[in-house]
Amino acid sequence: MSAWTKLAHGVTRLLLLSGLFSMALGAARPAAAEWLLRETAIMGTRCAVELWTEDHARGEAAIEQVFAEMRRIDALMSHYKPDSELSRVNARAAEEPVKVSRELFDLIALALDYSRITNGAFDITYASVGYLYDFRKRIHPGREQIGAALPAIDYRHVKLDPKTLTIRFERPGVRIDLGGIAKGYAVDRGIELLQAAGFTRAMVNAGGDTRIIGDRFGKPWIAGIRHPDDEGKIALRIPIEDAALSTSGDYERFFDEGGVRYHHILDPKTGDSARQLRSVTIIGPNATRTDALSTSVFVLGPEAGLALINSLDDVDAVLVTPQGKVLYSKGLEPPASAQ
Ligand code: ADP
Ligand code: MG
Repeated sequence: MSAWTKLAHGVTRLLLLSGLFSMALGAARPAAAEWLLRETAIMGTRCAVELWTEDHARGEAAIEQVFAEMRRIDALMSHYKPDSELSRVNARAAEEPVKVSRELFDLIALALDYSRITNGAFDITYASVGYLYDFRKRIHPGREQIGAALPAIDYRHVKLDPKTLTIRFERPGVRIDLGGIAKGYAVDRGIELLQAAGFTRAMVNAGGDTRIIGDRFGKPWIAGIRHPDDEGKIALRIPIEDAALSTSGDYERFFDEGGVRYHHILDPKTGDSARQLRSVTIIGPNATRTDALSTSVFVLGPEAGLALINSLDDVDAVLVTPQGKVLYSKGLEPPASAQ
């Protein structure tokens, strides 16, 4: 990838800098054309769509269509909603094969592919232990509780039958959760809808996951990555066009206890929060991929995480260590003269 970056200290999660965008407007454009930006809360997070439109009503309608699509995906895949397809799988798949929609089947199959390439760092069965945490109520499981539930974490317990579109768990106690990939998927679906409707300059964002098509009339979009300990501080700015970007951080859902941070990204091998990094940002071709890989690299840690990203041709990464050091994948390393 050709994106350049500048070194900065203590990075983290993505904020899109709407203020900067207006400076990028230039050149001739139709009188009624405009940038439209709308935000709403879906999937337990802030979602936003921004697009360039020559017809205000069409722009508004397209944004509503994207939000409706995100709500549809949430209703299908949320583990908070007892009547979602995913909840039905969790309730019954240890007893019998559960038939699901092609869409859910395919996303679960893709999630299992990420488990394979990350050697199990990305694992949707993390939820077999994950459900014992409640970050709002400051609850984490003890050692014994984790020990009892841990054998149920293993993506190989999830058996897919493509002929019948059924899912089965090989043992009791297995639960799956798509929180590490579903937001990116929803962002990609949103972008596809906008492309099908003919929009060529747009941004779709859901929490830490964003995808962009087109530029801002000759200038790139600017993604800001926040400081891990200061929400208001932008630590790093990354210009992007026609790309996706996801950030995973330990400051999204967490509580601190006795100097230890309990947060929402779990190491499937231990059932405990992953603590080798503070934040991971992945830049790549689509948001499903960058979402899954940001969670993966967060668990893998700096060494194995960068090795994975450097082995993949279409993605790059920016990592922040607990010491505040910023690490880059090969494609983003500043030229020697700039260091
Ligand atoms: P967010 O945008 O919600 O901060 P991330 O992309 O950082 O999401 O992923 C964190 C979410 O991924 C968690 O809230 C949880 O639902 C899920 N998750 C946690 N640990 C793992 C793991 N080891 N493998 C796959 N998914 C995970
Ligand atoms: Mg992710």
